[in-house]
Amino acid sequence: EKLIIPRAEHSISRSLLSPNGVKVLYKLREHGFIAYLVGGGVRDLLLGREPKDFDVVTDATPNQLKKLFRNCRLIGRRFRLAHIHFHDEIIEVATFRSTVDAAEAAAEGAPEALPEEPAEAPAEAEQLEEERDGRRRRRLHHGPPILKSEDGMVLRDNVFGTPEEDAIRRDFTVNALFYNIADFSIIDHVGGMEDLKNGLIRTIGDPMVRFTEDPVRMIRAIRFASMLGFNIEPRTEAAIEALCGTINKATPPRLYEEVLKLLLMGAGERTYQMMRHNGLFEPLFPHFDAWLSRESDCYPHVRVSKALEWVDEQLGQGNPVTPSLLIALMFGEYLEEKVAQFRDGGLPPQQATDAAVAAFAGELAPTVSVPNRAIVAVRDILNMQQRFQKTPGRNGRGVVARPAFHDALQYLRFMEQLTPPKRSLADWWERFAAQQSEGVVEAAPEPRGEAAAGE
Ligand code: ATP
Ligand code: MG
Repeated sequence: EKLIIPRAEHSISRSLLSPNGVKVLYKLREHGFIAYLVGGGVRDLLLGREPKDFDVVTDATPNQLKKLFRNCRLIGRRFRLAHIHFHDEIIEVATFRSTVDAAEAAAEGAPEALPEEPAEAPAEAEQLEEERDGRRRRRLHHGPPILKSEDGMVLRDNVFGTPEEDAIRRDFTVNALFYNIADFSIIDHVGGMEDLKNGLIRTIGDPMVRFTEDPVRMIRAIRFASMLGFNIEPRTEAAIEALCGTINKATPPRLYEEVLKLLLMGAGERTYQMMRHNGLFEPLFPHFDAWLSRESDCYPHVRVSKALEWVDEQLGQGNPVTPSLLIALMFGEYLEEKVAQFRDGGLPPQQATDAAVAAFAGELAPTVSVPNRAIVAVRDILNMQQRFQKTPGRNGRGVVARPAFHDALQYLRFMEQLTPPKRSLADWWERFAAQQSEGVVEAAPEPRGEAAAGE
């Protein structure tokens, strides 16, 4: 049933919202539309956290939104979402949906949501498309009641719904709360307030059904639990254990994005342990998981944990970590082992790295496909580790100018933290790079080798 929590009984005030979000909500309201803030924004504000973004739902249709907001762009092919553009912020406005699969909408929105890794290879787009069609077919048999035409085609476009329908198609109770701009109340159709108070991640409806509809929700459950320090409600958790093997029904590009978000939210190490524990890790990274389970010289592979802890530390200090740096660090020891194998097979260093990274990308492609751009960067990060040994060597400036320089330097920093050297090469290169950007080296002769490193 529907619960309304009046302004006096909750902690969200307008001053906590983004001013642009407030503008959008008020404008909709002024024109007679329903306007709610929804999703992560409401959840985070109620928890006293700073929301990542402000999503709005309304009964205005995409076309009405287009007329109402000059700075509006409609995105998505099947699920038309409005992006209202402001100077440094985009407010996402969606029309209440009923039967439309939120997962599909998320998958479709994904390339836009992550600008640093845009939808690239057409092959990937096709893959996404294909799997979406696959999922649509499956849902015809297993999904909740959906609108079908006489020939069985799903009539999804513009399937608008009521606010309640919009709430119950969402993934977790704590993600389905509405903040109503009309009277500043919270509207709760799904028991989300109660779960928020008790710190529980619970699917809306039967978790077995909801995870079957969209297996990515299992990863999301872990992400939210980890991010908020919540527990996963027992039935929801049992369903993850039962269905973890079906995670690969989601497309590899989408899984890549979800795994990235999971590992780059500042608690990657904990999350990694959780996933290995509850069985989600193995189907995502089968080769790597098998390697992890083999001890090396009687030691488990502790470097993965250390790498993820290091990433968490960086993120905690506000230093961004790129996807390719994360991949290079997380899989570093595994990759180095592969490189060594190709070296033993007679390849020179650079080619051995190229071959190792290519083999690694090939292993991952069927489950979590890393975009080519990131793979190229991982290869550069590894190759530059050898180059860093010569200071500055021939064309040190060229090294600094490489796109992967900063990430490669970070990688070196991590390695030096693992095994502290007498003299830090990372310090040397950082100073060298600073001199470059100040133009000092333009006038002075290039510093050379050890002498320079000792400065
Ligand atoms: P974050 O703070 O990470 O952005 P969020 O809750 O805002 O968390 P988003 O991925 O931005 O998560 O999605 C916005 C909202 O859309 C969610 O809160 C949820 O209500 C709904 N949603 C997103 N993905 C799904 C999904 N796979 N299935 C059902 N609902 C979803
Ligand atoms: Mg969000």
